[in-house]
Amino acid sequence: MNRNLIHSFTKDEVEAALRTMEPLSAPGPDGMPPTFFQTYWLVVGDDVTSAVLNCLNNYSMPADINHTFITLIPKVKSPEKNSEYRFISLCNVIYKLVSQVLANRLHGLLPDIISKNQSAFQAGRIITDNILMAYETLHYMKHQLETAGLHTLIEKAARDGHIRGISLCKNGPRLTHLVFADDSLLFCRASLQECDHIHIILSEYEAASSQKLNRDKTTLLFSKATPPEMQESIINMLGVPEIKQYENDSLPTRVNLVRRKLLQVDTCPNCNLAPESASYALWSCPKLDVVWFPHFAKLIEATSSLSAFAEILHSAFQDPSSIEVFANIVSLIWMSRNRAAFGEACSNLGKIPEQARSLVHEFNHLRPVHAKIPRTA
Ligand SMILES: [Zn+2]
Repeated sequence: MNRNLIHSFTKDEVEAALRTMEPLSAPGPDGMPPTFFQTYWLVVGDDVTSAVLNCLNNYSMPADINHTFITLIPKVKSPEKNSEYRFISLCNVIYKLVSQVLANRLHGLLPDIISKNQSAFQAGRIITDNILMAYETLHYMKHQLETAGLHTLIEKAARDGHIRGISLCKNGPRLTHLVFADDSLLFCRASLQECDHIHIILSEYEAASSQKLNRDKTTLLFSKATPPEMQESIINMLGVPEIKQYENDSLPTRVNLVRRKLLQVDTCPNCNLAPESASYALWSCPKLDVVWFPHFAKLIEATSSLSAFAEILHSAFQDPSSIEVFANIVSLIWMSRNRAAFGEACSNLGKIPEQARSLVHEFNHLRPVHAKIPRTA
């Protein structure tokens, strides 16, 4: 493995990388799309190859090659705020060749060194995001630590009695937070003291992690029992909007893609037997029996096969002790479904419950090692 990684880079590798590039992708500061290099390779090939190989074999890159244009792409029709843009980097072709050659070498090794749970490393993305690959790995590790940091702060506040969380059945365990990748759900009682404490925790977290909470994506959801005056005070205190219900059914299932006129066929990519709604994809597809039946028989009893996924989720929440495993199973099913949808070999579905349990276990045992959380509040 190591010998493959360290031998000198060759002209063939540069040419192979160029062939895979999208001919008309937006140019970087060199002003040339890949089609120019592909068409006039006989003329420019030797010079380009020696420039690329010089970077790769002699570890030196002229600063100009590293220059990129950063461009804002609107995410919505009429953007008004910064957060409605996504930024992309447009790199020089020589830079892209360097990173593509590196990515091609690493490509065969990736399955051995990167966990399949990291959706950032899905095939298809590797080709375009290869520049970020090393960075992503570090970022992922840092993020895991940071998430664990938030986890620790909330646990401590709950232990000290500052926030009480919610309990869905009498004497059941209290749930204070759920964290999935970059999304977090925090639960507390609708009192000014508890909300103020959540506010303090989030500020501490922001200061310690140098991550910023995206206030445009932060919302409050009140229970029906919360008096309107209290709702108003909390909304004013936290300065984020209230929503009445979390958006349902926005997953890009085939039914939804057909409805948005992006696809013509709506059958489930796993079994090809029925239209793929969210509840079908995540819950009732017969291929998923091996995942759900052994451990969630009670939950299956409590739902009908026609339930919307929101209802199934609601039932799942009745048992807070297994909700984290449930959520991870759902996420693993969706990742495996995506592999099936893109024609990749499907992982063994029967292993999903065990993987989900070990993810929850791993997360619960992850504690910040180096990160000391400074007190700021
Ligand atoms: Zn199916």
